[in-house]
Amino acid sequence: MSKIRIIGEFAAVRWFRPLRSRRAVERRQRRLLRRHLRFLRRHSAYFHDLLAAHGGFADLPLMDKSVMMGRFDEINTVGAHRDEALALAIANERSREFDADLGTNSVGLSSGTSGHRGLFVVSAEERDAWVGTVLARTLPKGRLFGHRIALFLRADNTLYESVGSKAVSFSYFDVHADMAANIARLQEYRPTILVAPASVLRLIARAADDGRFDALPEKVYAVAEVLEISDSQRIQASLRQPLLHQLYQCTEGFLAHTCERGTLHLNEDNILVEREPLGDGRFTPIITDLRRRAQPIVRYRLGDVLLERAEPCPCGSALAAIERIEGREGDTLVFRTAEGLPVPVFADVVTRALLYADGFDEYRVAQTGPMRLEVSLDVLDAHTRQSVTEELHTLADRVGSLRPEVFFTAYRHDGTVKLRRVTRTWRGPDDEKL
Ligand SMILES: [Zn+2]
Repeated sequence: MSKIRIIGEFAAVRWFRPLRSRRAVERRQRRLLRRHLRFLRRHSAYFHDLLAAHGGFADLPLMDKSVMMGRFDEINTVGAHRDEALALAIANERSREFDADLGTNSVGLSSGTSGHRGLFVVSAEERDAWVGTVLARTLPKGRLFGHRIALFLRADNTLYESVGSKAVSFSYFDVHADMAANIARLQEYRPTILVAPASVLRLIARAADDGRFDALPEKVYAVAEVLEISDSQRIQASLRQPLLHQLYQCTEGFLAHTCERGTLHLNEDNILVEREPLGDGRFTPIITDLRRRAQPIVRYRLGDVLLERAEPCPCGSALAAIERIEGREGDTLVFRTAEGLPVPVFADVVTRALLYADGFDEYRVAQTGPMRLEVSLDVLDAHTRQSVTEELHTLADRVGSLRPEVFFTAYRHDGTVKLRRVTRTWRGPDDEKL
């Protein structure tokens, strides 16, 4: 861990890299892309061959998790071997120590929401740049010193290792550990900035409601899970936050952050985002990390659905603004019209519909059949069931589909998996077309 490198990146992001117009953003991206492709041609066997065969960046085939895992050895530029790296990452995960590294590189596993296991390798330089960028994006304007940052993370690796200094301290909380103990420790730590998945923030919010936690932070960030509006409102109220921030960070990169207005902006100073349009301002991002060299992420198709923001953000940033992250593409529900035509219903549209239903606190909706929804609720009385069924039927009427059958089960909290309130476990014949 090099503090000089971290501070250098912090200063660059915060003060010395003014990207005040789209032209400035695009100019920077073109410059970084040229340099990056030059590097890849020389150091990555996979990209050397592809660039020779295809010529330009725009013609490179898209990558995804299966390509990344299948061609891992040729893609990475630090000579890492997949099986060895995987064994090391699994051993780290089992011991939950995360101290074994591959030379100077860190390895880690990503659980991902798709169920496939992803492997990532990050160099020491990249790790420092990441810490510097995250600090630059999260520390409040005004007071820079004396912050205590609490990080609740699902899978740790040395990427997130504790960095202690007089200016800023980090404390890592394992989401697999006992939450009551975590919250007691959090209370003692008194974080000024709290970073956690939405499901964990809800537990902390509940602890605040019960009087078990009163060390209210200055800023709260939701990470790693789609943030639902109803969750956001509850967390804000309990932790007394004027707004809830977000860091959109996945194995493939640090993709977006909220500005002081609470708007999500894509991190286009380091990442190039191509858009696969889904209609009505929705798109699936194809990302290229312009600076990540150990494990290049080039034209990598994420399975997420993002909704672009119609108006520019009043903060004046030239980085593209996102209205919200709507979840995984595979979790878009598929209803049907009376004629049998498929109607995609985005996860976010379902959670919005349920804002109008009442009587429950926790819920999950899963599409388990062609017209079958299974709804898990923490309160299952007749009124609540009826309220939820009505809203789901209203939604179906609104999108012009038949009404789905709705079944109810009891809600169970599972801290070991990412919270996805809306999922689709049933796979239909039209999946390719959606
Ligand atoms: Zn903004």
